[in-house]
Amino acid sequence: MNKNSYNIMALAPNTSNKRETVCIFGTGDFGRALGHKLIQSGYPVVFGSRSTQPSSLIPKDAEVLSHTEAAQKAAIIIIAIQRQHYSFLTSLAEILHGKVLVDVSNNLKINQYPESNAEYLAQLVPGTKVVKAFNTVSAWALQSGTLDASRQVFVCGDDMEAKQMVMDIVRALGLTPLDQGSLLAAQEIENYPLQLFPMWKFPILLSLGLAAFFFFYSLIRDVIYPYVYESKDFSFFIAISIPNRICPIVALILLALVYLPGVLAAIIQLYRGTKYSRFPDWLDKWMLCRKQLGLVALAFAFLHVLYTLVIPIRSFVRWRMNNQILSLALKNETEPLNTTHAWLSDSYLALGILGFSLFFLLGITSLPSVSNNVNWREFRFVQSKLGYLTLILCTAHTLVYGGNRFLSPSSYRWYLPNAYMLSLIVPCIVLVIKFVLIFPCLDKPLTRIRQGWERNAQYPE
Ligand code: NAP
Repeated sequence: MNKNSYNIMALAPNTSNKRETVCIFGTGDFGRALGHKLIQSGYPVVFGSRSTQPSSLIPKDAEVLSHTEAAQKAAIIIIAIQRQHYSFLTSLAEILHGKVLVDVSNNLKINQYPESNAEYLAQLVPGTKVVKAFNTVSAWALQSGTLDASRQVFVCGDDMEAKQMVMDIVRALGLTPLDQGSLLAAQEIENYPLQLFPMWKFPILLSLGLAAFFFFYSLIRDVIYPYVYESKDFSFFIAISIPNRICPIVALILLALVYLPGVLAAIIQLYRGTKYSRFPDWLDKWMLCRKQLGLVALAFAFLHVLYTLVIPIRSFVRWRMNNQILSLALKNETEPLNTTHAWLSDSYLALGILGFSLFFLLGITSLPSVSNNVNWREFRFVQSKLGYLTLILCTAHTLVYGGNRFLSPSSYRWYLPNAYMLSLIVPCIVLVIKFVLIFPCLDKPLTRIRQGWERNAQYPE
């Protein structure tokens, strides 16, 4: 026995329970990787191929036969071939009759064909039991053993017994089968690997849109305006000052947008007097991506922290400080300590530090490995109560930063207010509505509605 086959035998669990032979059509990347994994798990494997020539790439313990011969040796046949080559299977219809065909194929585009590949296979070879599985697991993951990200295998099929047989194989490979129902679900399963961060699209596009808007807004106010009116070149603000303005603004608005759908949902429920009618689609979708919105907001807040840390080493900041000190020294003057200003500045920093720490905690508790370890009440406490506290702290941080500049006409340039003032609009709206909803006259009916009570329902006396 060679070294490789010894290792494979050692990994096979309980080989005394002899496993049924599995046939794989196609000796490509996926067929070979799956064959190797099946052999490791104790399954005898036979490949059906156009060429029966021996190849060093094919697992040593597997047989390579013609499609007809291989199909005769197993009740389960995994079709590891691209959909466009399925047509040759019609000539094997008689041998394949009554067998379980596992469709593992993926497409290049979402909804590429009118019917799923698995349904097409079932139409092509009637009399077979087609099961869709394994398409979300990559050949590379099977071969390298790094199955952490793709441990789930979505399975669907019309024949319960066939589906069960495939799910048993999935389990034996150390993977987790997820029954998705009948073959009608195959199209959706085939679309899974083609989706590009579906839940992240809206938060990322929104944050990029906000960042672009505030970039041009700050560019006009902080670079173009001084250049036009004072002939001062502050174009270097583009590197640090403007990003450090954009990051906290986008973070605060996104954080408020995490909580805005919740208060809108509460208003809708109060208005309708029931929780049993569906929210509008846009609100449903918005609610579903709150976690992603929060994590993008956290990333912007983190960037703000990093940009703030480098402020003291910036050449512009050092130049301004040296100039102030020198002009005071030349005038032989000192500035008295302004305790109000010191209070404001320390409070602003303290609120920022506390806000960011809680923000970080919210981010950590939204990770599946952490949220799986807290119960529903703990999770709600962190995400709702501490979440609102974070929003209050971050809004207060921005308000204190502004101080009384809100009222100063000189802070308006071309009638444009400072960008941070705009960032306060959404958080203030959310906090005011939330505050109003806490009043018992609204909170009590809302709690009852959420417990299933309906305003217009007829209850027996
Ligand atoms: P591949 O490397 O191109 O292999 C496909 C195999 O199909 C070939 O090696 C060949 O095997 C057979 N074949 C090609 N043309 C044929 C024809 N005209 N008639 C009959 N057989 C033909 O592709 P793959 O990456 O292994 O993918 C195979 C299937 O698994 C695809 O449907 C793919 O969507 C799916 N899949 C792949 C991955 C992955 O990570 N690669 C992941 C999930 C699902 P023989 O030379 O032995 O006949």
